[in-house]
Amino acid sequence: MIVKLNKRISSNQVNDIIDEIEKLNIKVLNKSNKEEYILQIDCTKEQIDKISKIKFVDCVIESPIYKHVSHIFDDVVVKLSNCTFSRKHFTIIAGPCSVESNVQMNSIVEDIKSNVHVIRGGAYKPRTSPYDFQGLAKDGLEILKNINSKYNIPIITEITSIEDIDYFVNNVDIIQVGARNMQNFDLLKRLGKVNKPVLLKRGLSNTVNEWILASEYIVSNGNKEVILCERGIRTFEDKTRNTLDLSAVVLAKELTNLPVVVDPSHACGKAWMIEKLALASLAVGADGIMIEVHNDPANALSDGEQSITPNTFNDIVSKLKTLAPSFNKKVE
Ligand code: PEP
Ligand code: MN
Repeated sequence: MIVKLNKRISSNQVNDIIDEIEKLNIKVLNKSNKEEYILQIDCTKEQIDKISKIKFVDCVIESPIYKHVSHIFDDVVVKLSNCTFSRKHFTIIAGPCSVESNVQMNSIVEDIKSNVHVIRGGAYKPRTSPYDFQGLAKDGLEILKNINSKYNIPIITEITSIEDIDYFVNNVDIIQVGARNMQNFDLLKRLGKVNKPVLLKRGLSNTVNEWILASEYIVSNGNKEVILCERGIRTFEDKTRNTLDLSAVVLAKELTNLPVVVDPSHACGKAWMIEKLALASLAVGADGIMIEVHNDPANALSDGEQSITPNTFNDIVSKLKTLAPSFNKKVE
């Protein structure tokens, strides 16, 4: 249930009300003053009457369907060592689709290091065909670890198996859940128990509601640090790899309190489209971007067609940096 409090109340008075509610043996789960002062409580229908009578309680209403990530709760801010994912920031994630070698990773990071907050690179690749490059697995994770210690830039990489959770928690800065695992509910529940940010991609054919409910699986299990990522959905359009659903970004930001970023690379599948879609993402209010960058796109072991070069990437970021303040965003 949600308890709405009188708008003119002070924070001391809020604490008094929490005490009163707790004296009734009712747990206060969440407190927020984003739009108005509200408390989220765990109570029975019979207890509502008693709470309604407490001074400064305006009303008691049913919790929203998004019991943990609703927009009515305080915004989630995910802080890493060098950057923040929040409604005030526009945060840049970039790197190759797959980690291919030490040389490849060093070459890319060396060239983009001044413009990137988080380095990406897949070590476990959920490929459509079992005959395509499947990733370097543990060796790829080791390469990422070396990159992290050499450059001191946080690392994000995709998890595909529950068995790997401990390794990921100890060695990466953000755990990515790929589109194909968005509804792997056992994995999501387990990620709800860890103390590590999770970037949750939207499934290939999932609605915004299903995507947000997937985030609830993580947050309701205790891990509040979820970043949503729109990466394009399947539509009848076949000239692009997927269709970038920018209205989903606007919706997800309206409906939830989570940071929302955009991956234009998997959305369009074409390197030449990335700049325009990246700028459009900033314009619709995304809180960041994830772009695939490769030192040699023509010979990439996966997703070369949609990978941009470090030079192109640096140009795009410089445009994003110039435009960000117009959208009340900081790239820092
Ligand atoms: C990826 O980011 O490497 C990836 C596989 O993306 P998606 O899960 O969105 O297909
Ligand atoms: Mn890819």
